[in-house]
Amino acid sequence: MSAAQNPDDDLFDDPEEEEDDDEEGSAAGARCPICEMLAGECDHLVASIDLTYSEFIAGALFAQERVILDLLEHLAASDPDALKVAGAGPALEHVATLVKDEIEEGASPGDAVSIHYPQLMAVLSHMLQEDGQVTLTGTDAEADDDSAVENLWAQEPELIVEQLIERLQGFADEVDEAGHEE
Ligand SMILES: [Zn+2]
Repeated sequence: MSAAQNPDDDLFDDPEEEEDDDEEGSAAGARCPICEMLAGECDHLVASIDLTYSEFIAGALFAQERVILDLLEHLAASDPDALKVAGAGPALEHVATLVKDEIEEGASPGDAVSIHYPQLMAVLSHMLQEDGQVTLTGTDAEADDDSAVENLWAQEPELIVEQLIERLQGFADEVDEAGHEE
């Protein structure tokens, strides 16, 4: 009798191991609050913002990234008072004030804006959420080498992005006009 070692030992290994394996790194915030799909699998993502590196990494906004960032950078380097007149909102005014201070201390406008890029991204996120059509989920960095990412979702992301661009463009036009009167 030597065939006694029980070969059934790992018969009941773990039948559920398959499915969720590759979702390990994605926290709850990476799931769409509208349809519950993972980011990248549905069409509700307005923007995915990497807060650590202050950059967009996905979403409808990603396709228009250059236009939006150009407008934002332009506004951030504008006169805070002109922004106020244009109705750009206290958050954007605040960033413009910080940028202005930086320039007065000798930074170039480009450098001054990049120093305050995290604030500028926060303003953008704030502007997107303002009208209540956008839902924010956050995925805090879990592993050390992970960045903190913020996801913004909406029923119609393209529309939200369009409206954002129109809004920013409107502010920019007003600010530029104010500048010409000097
Ligand atoms: Zn969705």
